[in-house]
Amino acid sequence: MDSSELRALAERTVRKIVMTSPLNSLKGFDEKSWGKPIVGFAAGNDPLFESYKELIGDFYWTPSEVMQLAYPDETFNADQLSIICWILPQTENTLADQRKADKLPASRWIHSRHYGEKFNEYLRATVRDTFIKAGIKAAAPVICSEFSYQQSHNFGLASNWSERHTAFVAGLGTFGLSDGFITERGKAVRIGSIIVAARITPDVRRFNSHTANCLWYAEGTCGACISRCPVNAISTAGHDKQACFEYIRGVTAPYAEKILGAWETPCGLCQVKIPCERHNPVSTCSKKAS
Ligand code: SF4
Ligand code: SF4
Repeated sequence: MDSSELRALAERTVRKIVMTSPLNSLKGFDEKSWGKPIVGFAAGNDPLFESYKELIGDFYWTPSEVMQLAYPDETFNADQLSIICWILPQTENTLADQRKADKLPASRWIHSRHYGEKFNEYLRATVRDTFIKAGIKAAAPVICSEFSYQQSHNFGLASNWSERHTAFVAGLGTFGLSDGFITERGKAVRIGSIIVAARITPDVRRFNSHTANCLWYAEGTCGACISRCPVNAISTAGHDKQACFEYIRGVTAPYAEKILGAWETPCGLCQVKIPCERHNPVSTCSKKAS
């Protein structure tokens, strides 16, 4: 298969699973967890992956290292690899409920964080396996058994593969004041990715900075996410990860456990009732949504 056929296979597979799988379900609500996805592509040898490793820490994986973990007897050159990345937007019902919440996340949001992310894990595995069945080696970093969180000197607690940073490489959006990822479908999203041993023409990043889609950084306006956070974890200086972490672990996770009967870590109050909730508020950004 050539690059355009591989792109088409990836886009078709992701969209079909999201739009037709019964597993894309907000259990208990008889409706989908996620709306129509966006798919983007990055090159395995994009220099940003090495930059992330330098900035975040040696534990952060490059695409080649992930493939090496999945296929220990083989060697992979970064220029032979590509990354397929997708954005899963929250539904209108979930957004509407979460807008009414101001201290604790809405029940639908809690369910999407739990069942929606379980579906995202299934999506990662199924897209990976689709490529393997087509004769192309593939790996899904976040569902690798070695996936973990460690302490970064520069950023505190960090995982060895970041879906948001990968989505930035694939040109799917940029970061905002709250650290959320602002796409053409907004910031109320979840993200997934896999790596394939094939060359796929990458998407072009049309941003002039890693925060270009945020009104605060682009124009010095907005700041609406600051007042949405119940524990002041967002300020004009950015996102206080520790304060956010403590609120979620200490308050919203125990609350979610009562609702779900399972441990989960939702909040996302700063992802709704804001200008970047459902779209990219900065008009000069690339238009990737289809
Ligand atoms: S709410 Fe405003 S300031 Fe906060 S991330 Fe979105 S665009 Fe940026
Ligand atoms: S996720 Fe919740 S606690 Fe964390 S910054 Fe957003 S609103 Fe605040």
